[in-house]
Amino acid sequence: MKSLTILFCFVLLFKGEVPYAQTQTYYLQPDRVFDGNEMHEGWVVLVAGNKITEVGPANKIIKPRGATALMLTGTTIMPGMIEGHSHLLLYPYNQTSWNDQVMKESDAYRVARATIHAKKTLMAGFTTVRDLGTEGAGYADVGLKKSIEDEIIPGPRMIVAGRAIVATGSYGPKGFDTDFEVMLGAEPADGNDLIRVTRDQIGKGADVIKVYADYRWGVHGEAAPTFSIEELKLIVEAAKSSGRPTVVHASTKEGMRRAILAGVETIEHGDQGDDEIFKLMKEKGIAFCPTLAAGDAILQYNGWKKGIDPEPKRILEKKASFKSALNAGVTIVAGGDVGVFPHGENARELEMMKDYGMDIMAVLKSVTSVNAKTFHLTNLGEIKPGFLADLVAVKGDPSKNISDLRKVSFVMKDGIIYKQE
Ligand SMILES: [Zn+2]
Repeated sequence: MKSLTILFCFVLLFKGEVPYAQTQTYYLQPDRVFDGNEMHEGWVVLVAGNKITEVGPANKIIKPRGATALMLTGTTIMPGMIEGHSHLLLYPYNQTSWNDQVMKESDAYRVARATIHAKKTLMAGFTTVRDLGTEGAGYADVGLKKSIEDEIIPGPRMIVAGRAIVATGSYGPKGFDTDFEVMLGAEPADGNDLIRVTRDQIGKGADVIKVYADYRWGVHGEAAPTFSIEELKLIVEAAKSSGRPTVVHASTKEGMRRAILAGVETIEHGDQGDDEIFKLMKEKGIAFCPTLAAGDAILQYNGWKKGIDPEPKRILEKKASFKSALNAGVTIVAGGDVGVFPHGENARELEMMKDYGMDIMAVLKSVTSVNAKTFHLTNLGEIKPGFLADLVAVKGDPSKNISDLRKVSFVMKDGIIYKQE
């Protein structure tokens, strides 16, 4: 019966459909459980419907009559991972440049690709994503999110940002005859108009407001600040009034400083962050999403042969700034800027966090409980009675070998099994 049910799920998945929600009870028995905080050898997890009902040592939790027992021998069960920074509507720039994706590809084409990206993300064990901007595809993320919620396509839970906000003149695509009205990768706005644009984006379905506090519009094409602190405050306050956080793209020290003083919730990238700036972030309780894997990917697209060539200056600087963030004790959310590199390869960021000096257990917490808390997901990111049944199993023990996070053999979201090997 068990195998029939699983076969049934697979047949449906193979057809590209989502299995029906069920009210089944599962007794999951892996080698160990990472509950979002600690590793426990010999624990089991009980799921009823879409909720976790019990978790603890195998000899303490009795399998209820009628529950389906799944022996996940050789695996570690952990909370469904939470991607802190994705763009489901983008794909790697070495396949098609960002400019061409934004300008030449229709929304329909991009959404068709995004449905595949969503499935790959889920199958890689990421049951939630914070998707930070469609980059020219309007509010396609809002529709994508609804199609996943309505079980039309398989994919992760989504926190969406919609179009995102940029300062006039700062953002791309660029370099065309000024007679052309070029479609931009985000919505330009300035001054008091930022209040209207923030509210408009909220009205159209944005869960978070994404703002670019700096961009590559300096005299020599270098990153330079965009909005003033006062402008950023207008956005933060308009968003906060509706209960929504503001998340900020900033790579320069000054862009980061302005974002911090404006009271944003997270800062993305932060390449030029130093001891002083991370100390300020720590004081203000602002979390940092380092996106290590994105810079690493772009340098490789530009010709760097990782592992063969010496590490470029940008990599050495990124390692130094990440160390400074760790030393300052800033909350670090795991987010790779997936889309710059392939969807489904999300674990790359986690491997790099460890490579760049983060404690392996801290990495596991970051991608589960820390991301959940930072993104206000109060019933996700931990394996606890009453929490939603978003669970993944990976072969091996990721607290010993971080790359075991790539060996996803089981995915459950909202009590529904999407993958079982
Ligand atoms: Zn991004």
